[in-house]
Amino acid sequence: MTTATTATTAPTTTAITDIAGLVTNDPSLGEGPLGLIRDAAVVIDGDRIAWVGESSKAPATDNRVDAGGRAAIPGFVDSHSHLVFAGDRTEEFNARMSGRPYSAGGIRTTVAATRAASNNVLHANVGRYVAEARRQGTTTVEIKSGYGLTSQDEARALTIAGAHTDEVTFLGAHIVAPEFADDPAAYVDLVTGPMLDACAPYARWIDVFCEQGAFDGDQARTILTAGKERGLIPRVHANQLSYGPGVQLAVELGAASADHCTHLTDADVDALAQGETVATLLPGAEFSTRSTYPDARRLLDAGATVALSPDCNPGSSFTSSMPFCVALAVREMGMTPDEAVWAATAGGARALHRTDVGRVSPGARADLVLLDAPSHVHLAYRPGVPLVSAVWHNGTLI
Ligand SMILES: [Zn+2]
Repeated sequence: MTTATTATTAPTTTAITDIAGLVTNDPSLGEGPLGLIRDAAVVIDGDRIAWVGESSKAPATDNRVDAGGRAAIPGFVDSHSHLVFAGDRTEEFNARMSGRPYSAGGIRTTVAATRAASNNVLHANVGRYVAEARRQGTTTVEIKSGYGLTSQDEARALTIAGAHTDEVTFLGAHIVAPEFADDPAAYVDLVTGPMLDACAPYARWIDVFCEQGAFDGDQARTILTAGKERGLIPRVHANQLSYGPGVQLAVELGAASADHCTHLTDADVDALAQGETVATLLPGAEFSTRSTYPDARRLLDAGATVALSPDCNPGSSFTSSMPFCVALAVREMGMTPDEAVWAATAGGARALHRTDVGRVSPGARADLVLLDAPSHVHLAYRPGVPLVSAVWHNGTLI
């Protein structure tokens, strides 16, 4: 990391003082894995964190903000979202809550609506959901394509996503496009050929929905390998609805993350514990489909790195709220409040191979969230309460 600045105008420094408990995620700076500092202050210089420490020792700055005994955490890092879409699936949700099980086929409804939407509508939708997430403390968000499923529509989705984030993922292999329902092999050829040609310039990552009804292990391997050859880094929708090869494939191919991880064998858990691939858990999906939650405790006890994300999408998890996921992770998945807050910040950063976000320490991007609470534990202790009271993103108070 570098803390050098190339700004030509004098940077503005701001001290945020009287923070009851500051989560830094840097164990060298404070207590425990969260590097908690009590009675803390943070100094922001331009778009970077310049200093953290005890409030009484804060250096002189241009501006000063009194946190009034609130807690502060790094901005949430959401490593998994599907925000480029149009339309609405209220009726599907309503039906499912009346007893109909979720199947991957519902994605086709959103594909049709997204293809029919104008660029302006899609831009406005992404902007609205990114802003909605930011108000809830999310300052980094990954965005996937996956509702276009033609070369042109997937490239369009990636271009639109790229206007809102640097973390763009090509998910042409979300489901087999409806036009190829009778010939999935031809669709894999399209995804790994002309569609990849059209999309690779606009994406950092490549993702596959490896699941019964979507893509099997061999198809997923072919697609991810083709993406790697074009410089894209794999991530995998793995083991969400059933046991399968997704997690093992993710670890084998050096994927940044295996996402969902709901149905895991002991061998899957071992692979995640021994590899570099992050297990990204998406409890909004289980909540919204009345399904069994992933067992975060089992993964953590084995030594795996766990991230959390809302998986915001119009079908299986229409929430952008990381605080909601933290509360679910603690209540339903066996995580401690500290583990859940780490997973929602530093864990997400790991899943995106980022070292500049997910922490509040010198040199990091100045992404900071003040909570209307004396401790980060309140994110789980007070579920459903809008505790995010201030958000700095890139050093700017939004
Ligand atoms: Zn997803």
